[in-house]
Amino acid sequence: MDVDFQQLKFTGTVRIQMRSEQDAVLNSAGLEIQRIALKDKLVSFRQGGEELIVQTGPFEGILEVKYAGIVPDSLAGIYRAPYDHTQIVTTHFEAAQARRMLPCIDHPDAKAEFKIAVMIDRELTAISNMPIESVIPNGERKLVTFQTTPRMSTYLLYLGIGKFEELTEKLGKKDVIVATIPGKVKLGKFSQDEAKKAISFFESYYAIPYALPKIHLIAVPEFAMGAMENWGAITFRESALLIDANSTIKTRKRVAEIVGHELAHQWFGNLVTMKWWDDIWLNESFATFMAFKLLNSIHKDWRSWEDFMRNDTAGALGRDGLKKTHPIQVPVKSPDEIEQIFDEISYGKGASILRMIEAYVGEDAFQAGVREFLSSHTYSNATGNEFWNSLDACSHKEVKKIMSAWIQQPGYPMLTVKVTGGKLILRQERFLISGATETGLWPIPLTLEINGHPQNVLMNASEQALETELITSLKVNVDRTGFYLTQYLGCEDLVWNSDLSAIDRWGVVFDAFAFLLSGKTNFTDYMKLLKRFTTEVEYLPIHEISDQLSFLYTIARPRISEFSSAFHRSQLGMLRGKSDENGMILREAVACRLTLVDDGYSHELESKFREYTQVTPEMKQAVALAYARSTENYDNLLATYRKSDSDEDRIRLLTAMTAFRNPPFVNRTLDFTLTKEVKRQDVRLILATAAGNPDARDTTWRWLQQNIEKLQALYKGTGILSGTFLSTIPFLGIGRVEEVRTFFKQHEFHDSEVGISAGLEKLFVYDRLAKALA
Ligand SMILES: [Zn+2]
Repeated sequence: MDVDFQQLKFTGTVRIQMRSEQDAVLNSAGLEIQRIALKDKLVSFRQGGEELIVQTGPFEGILEVKYAGIVPDSLAGIYRAPYDHTQIVTTHFEAAQARRMLPCIDHPDAKAEFKIAVMIDRELTAISNMPIESVIPNGERKLVTFQTTPRMSTYLLYLGIGKFEELTEKLGKKDVIVATIPGKVKLGKFSQDEAKKAISFFESYYAIPYALPKIHLIAVPEFAMGAMENWGAITFRESALLIDANSTIKTRKRVAEIVGHELAHQWFGNLVTMKWWDDIWLNESFATFMAFKLLNSIHKDWRSWEDFMRNDTAGALGRDGLKKTHPIQVPVKSPDEIEQIFDEISYGKGASILRMIEAYVGEDAFQAGVREFLSSHTYSNATGNEFWNSLDACSHKEVKKIMSAWIQQPGYPMLTVKVTGGKLILRQERFLISGATETGLWPIPLTLEINGHPQNVLMNASEQALETELITSLKVNVDRTGFYLTQYLGCEDLVWNSDLSAIDRWGVVFDAFAFLLSGKTNFTDYMKLLKRFTTEVEYLPIHEISDQLSFLYTIARPRISEFSSAFHRSQLGMLRGKSDENGMILREAVACRLTLVDDGYSHELESKFREYTQVTPEMKQAVALAYARSTENYDNLLATYRKSDSDEDRIRLLTAMTAFRNPPFVNRTLDFTLTKEVKRQDVRLILATAAGNPDARDTTWRWLQQNIEKLQALYKGTGILSGTFLSTIPFLGIGRVEEVRTFFKQHEFHDSEVGISAGLEKLFVYDRLAKALA
């Protein structure tokens, strides 16, 4: 390739060694194809959609395509990521965007070795998957050639061009390199250390060494995703990689998790790849699950499985309780369809199912299965089915039979539990957040504790009765390894008689909230349950309750403010002086929530904004929120935003700027997000926080309608708009369900159908609860 960094355009020649039994079909999008030759003879071609059909007839040899393209201001394919008054040129190819940089067979199953050479200006640097092999000066320019990659899929290719600053460390013979725009590389030290620990951990867990001579961790100034696992050249948004003096413990944990996730992919995804995107869960569930396994091993005191429950399992249960969901394994064809399944199902549900099956077969058999799967498909592709075969073989249990129900059926079960005369009666049906009843049958590896004695049962029927002695204490789904909800009918007290761990207590309150939403529990009973938690001291249940109260604040403020204020005040008191990591994370969340429901606390805190830069990172968000709520001073928050140079801090200030009581100020904030002063990647987040402000609901809904085309242009080709609809419609539509439904009927958004219909379904549930609590 020859890249004109100033004019933002490029020309290229790709030579593909291939064999075809008919006319060759390549993928190409947004490129101008100039000539195609086979064995030096020109061949004619035509373009249809994103396909390039070349009239080769059957052949074996080298197909050569000359082409030209531009580097657009998008967030997918090859694109320009601006900073200050310059840019880097960078790429993001998953799922079907490599075709925007080079004509190729853009299919995960079409693995090939890639040799990349790129002509760039002399003062620039280029980064790709492999180390540089040679640099040949050419006047003011230079030709950078990279070593040949191993066999790999196109979606994992990477090319970055710009003025990078690098920090290199050795891990054995391998280089672990952080790359950033100038002036920021020191902030990558934390991630570099985490990466080294992660590589060592995975090499030992998978029993396969990391495959390439180097790994880059690249901070991209504008990036639609959190991160992307390009082989040997992982890209991150800056806030997912760089840690500065302003970063909270929560951010450190999150960054370590993302680094771990992307490194887990270097084996699961990169070395062994799914055959087609219908098995994307195999990549994502594994990377998600393995990241927590890693953290649990290298940061024991973080108690990362609790974060896994709170974020991944809970997120997946929430998403999968909708009728508009999809099985973990889902047929997909078009790039738009593919983009929309990078969701809570492919990540969180799949990972939760892996946790369930690991608990069922045991950690050793699970690890043996993973090793056998990876080693038998190295540099190749595999399906989910092949993974279950490996697990079957290594565990001597019928994993595949159990798993196919969980992988191929949408949704998950709700278990009802009754105790009648010496019998424990268990029934399962599908749980739907709407409250609708639907039958469904899953083979459930049940874990029980009856009178303190653990018991494991594989539940294979819709109803099952267990003969027992007189039950005095009872626990179902011990440590919440099972992906289902449990409703105890008339035997709730037995649960409280048992020895509940923090995860178990989280489970009880999590399930209760799902039942409140679906109408299976009433508000009075729900509140009665919450009152049992007023002296709770554990991170996971406290965080969950705080989240639930925060949600209820958004949809039914008058009913919840008093309780929420008392709960958060009391928690804040108990947390004062706690300096462990999770205690500090809790304090941050609790303080933020308290500013919204307790004006007295807001006023107390607001004055600290004068010394904002001196405030400890964990209190910064609460102080900014308190300032916005108490003073309504838009200009001062904006001025502070402009002075800040950390993404993390800027997000905090923008978040505060969506929390005003005065709707026109929120409107100004939303308008501001579309200016060059806000990174495009962050608009969705700010819109979602604005949607959670009940004072500004009308304004935000109007703003969304008026700016919908701009958002569409911003996130074209990424699936982000779909996610944005899913996160905002359920709140913005409260009190105007019909109006919202009509709006989305009148406007078509092809790349967001999933998010819209799931969002409308959630809206129906939220609106119903809001009315009931009004
Ligand atoms: Zn991933």
